[in-house]
Amino acid sequence: MSLILRNVEVEGTGGLDVRLADGRIAEIGAHLAAGGEALDGRGGALIPGLTDHHIHLLALAAQADSVDLSAVTGPREMRTRLAEALAARPPGAWLRVTGYHERIAGDLGRADLDALAPAHPLRVQHQTGALWMLNSLALARLGEGETPPGVERNAAGQLTGRIWREDAWLRRRLSAPPPPLGPIGRRLAAFGITALTDASVTTDESAAAHLAAAVRAGDLPQRLTLMSGGPMEAPADGAFAVGPLKVLLDDHALIDLDDFTTRIERARRWGRPVAVHCVTAGELALTLAAFETAGARPGDRIEHGGLIPPAAISQLKGRGLTVVTQSAFVAERGDRYLAEVDRAEQADLYRCASLLAAGVPVAGSSDAPYASPDPWAGIAAAVGRRTRSGAVLGGVERIGPAAALGLYLGAPDDPGGPPRRVVVGSPADLCLLQVPLAQALAEPDAAVVAATFVGGRRVHAAS
Ligand SMILES: [Zn+2]
Repeated sequence: MSLILRNVEVEGTGGLDVRLADGRIAEIGAHLAAGGEALDGRGGALIPGLTDHHIHLLALAAQADSVDLSAVTGPREMRTRLAEALAARPPGAWLRVTGYHERIAGDLGRADLDALAPAHPLRVQHQTGALWMLNSLALARLGEGETPPGVERNAAGQLTGRIWREDAWLRRRLSAPPPPLGPIGRRLAAFGITALTDASVTTDESAAAHLAAAVRAGDLPQRLTLMSGGPMEAPADGAFAVGPLKVLLDDHALIDLDDFTTRIERARRWGRPVAVHCVTAGELALTLAAFETAGARPGDRIEHGGLIPPAAISQLKGRGLTVVTQSAFVAERGDRYLAEVDRAEQADLYRCASLLAAGVPVAGSSDAPYASPDPWAGIAAAVGRRTRSGAVLGGVERIGPAAALGLYLGAPDDPGGPPRRVVVGSPADLCLLQVPLAQALAEPDAAVVAATFVGGRRVHAAS
């Protein structure tokens, strides 16, 4: 089983051939002898596959498997969108719809939804997230028994289909299967991504089993690392690796320092580093204090680093902490930050260049579905720091395009570490570009990805 990539650029040298065998790079040279399958690289760069160091796969899959109505303007367009989605599903299969607002078609009850979806259980979420609207087939799936106060009933005691703020109860009662991962596995492969770290604190045994099954089935062709909020064991077949213990802070109800250090100590007993969600300055201050008390070790990470005051930079460096950032937030939410964040704090938003200059390791990621999963959009945002409207946010935090790509080239267990390399002996987790690297970086765009390989196996080829 071997594959030769002909005429590719490797680490700045064009016109080379690269042989992949047994999952690794076996040979690099000019005009390698034929043998096995061959693929013409047409002068494009062969670079290490990209790693998304912070993503939420099940949420991204649920979003991809749902109909989003937030841009829909009227009842006719809504009916068309739902009819298309229903036609693609066998009768009885769930349809999840998000982003509904009364301006589309008024208040919806179960009879309206039955007319829209007579053969499928349907649940529609209001744009505010406070209300779910279910049709009769969906209500039947909730089963019998007492219902909590948010489940609305009419004067006759019948269920109206409207359920207010009962998400936890709904999740327990709905027997909806987890969303399919194949579509997002393919989409991420088309970006050149060969490794993923899922940062969800909620990943439990059943979520991990679902993700592992998707890896085994080839639906998720990437190498997978899972964080979790509790204990987690890696399967014997290596379907996923166990990553850091995730600590999720909520600025409105910060956990106390004792609880925090207890969690860090527990992670140490399990031999795991710690990854802490830090979006605000308050969350970061508490996190730095917790690591001061419990001690930091290599691999500990700050997720997001949404607001990093200047004084915190040397503390991050001193504790050896890595910042796993999402530059795409600058593009996608930057206009809102410019309008809503204190002027004095705007320079602290999603820092990059100042962290690197201080010797703090920085890694790139998407936080998808909360921002675009496209790493090339993240690279462009790290380079330009432009918001959607074209304004610049934190111009001094700009980094060069090669450094921006480098944010995605660290190993999954060493985010922000040295970029992996295309050398003989390294794993054949690779991304082949349509053009030489300098040309690709002049205007970062996912369209430059020609093919993606994981363990020497092609998992994406541009059409
Ligand atoms: Zn996240």
